[in-house]
Amino acid sequence: METGSFFPETVKAVPTMQVNWRWIHAARNSFAVLSAACEGNGFDLKPVDAPADDVTCWSLSSINAPVYQDEIAAADCITVVGGPHATACPREVSGWADHVIVGEGEFVLPRLLENIRIGGDGRIPGVMTGDWYEPANACVRLDAYPAFTEMKGYVEISRGCPFSCGYCQTPQIFGHCMRHRSLDEVARYANRHEQSRFVSPNAFAYGSDGRHPRWDRVERLLAACRNQVFFGTFPSEVRPEWICEESLSLINRYCTNTKLHFGAQSGSDRVLARLQRGHTIADVMRALELCRDYSLTPVVDFIVGLPFESDEDQRETLGLIRLVSRSGVVHVHRFIPLPGTPLAGQAARPLLPETEKLCGKLALSGKLTGSWDDPAVRFFRRPSNDIP
Ligand code: SF4
Repeated sequence: METGSFFPETVKAVPTMQVNWRWIHAARNSFAVLSAACEGNGFDLKPVDAPADDVTCWSLSSINAPVYQDEIAAADCITVVGGPHATACPREVSGWADHVIVGEGEFVLPRLLENIRIGGDGRIPGVMTGDWYEPANACVRLDAYPAFTEMKGYVEISRGCPFSCGYCQTPQIFGHCMRHRSLDEVARYANRHEQSRFVSPNAFAYGSDGRHPRWDRVERLLAACRNQVFFGTFPSEVRPEWICEESLSLINRYCTNTKLHFGAQSGSDRVLARLQRGHTIADVMRALELCRDYSLTPVVDFIVGLPFESDEDQRETLGLIRLVSRSGVVHVHRFIPLPGTPLAGQAARPLLPETEKLCGKLALSGKLTGSWDDPAVRFFRRPSNDIP
């Protein structure tokens, strides 16, 4: 589809083009991945704390997008914006950025940069330029791109998720079909550092379709890492129904971590069903028991203030939070209606006074982390000047 045109009169070739990356701490792994992909195509991304010539790129979430919008609109250089918010709301972002990358960036960003370098008009599949847009014509194969190069990142072992949790943008960005980095490639990058840490929507789903475990493949991955391995901890949390004798035996045998991070999200089966989480409270209870049996400290995610949560549902969540906090740590977030998700546009419901009280009390005792009262807090507590 071609509608309108994008400043063709002003586009000029930029033979020695400087490409900058607007440093945002929360997007540091995106920088590691995309700078590696661009490097392979002859572009060195330079981290900057303000837009600069010739081109500056941003990766934005839906939480921090409003913070950077004016900076991008006023930038005196070519602006390229990607990330979850650009993928969810390309038309909105196109109103204040020259080029918007919709979806995965490894293939599309270097192509766009090359197009800009030779004086093209930015009409690349996977990019919205002005009001022109054509969907990407390629899907990223993880093995085709380095996990990282100079800038160390976590090794992304899997991408895509077969589930459709109502609040989550992941399947909208990466699709429902799981793709995996091969064992050799995972080992090649993981063993470059003292510790192996991974990115996955569900670490235990490595090598599988995301529904049926392949413990043989998970074991081969863990055995291939010869350093300190952290698996099933941030940013490779797991789903509760995948916590079982097999998976925890592997953690105890191969891994350094003494914690296991998984999502419960609610203490109400009714809410879990509305969220399409694909597991029940019984799965969470079993996961907690197994963590105890295998001497792993559970770190469990919850979301409070979901739009369809009744007072009773919220009290059930408080009950489960209390239970988890006796043996582990709870990570509580206030519901955020992210664009592009099934719950987009729905308002968070208010928290009960007893929810505020319990979360505050547990936070003071170190048993609770997260941003149950202000969803933006977790995105802005890091300094912005920690450029590598
Ligand atoms: S929350 Fe996790 S399991 Fe649910 S859709 Fe997102 S990535 Fe998949």
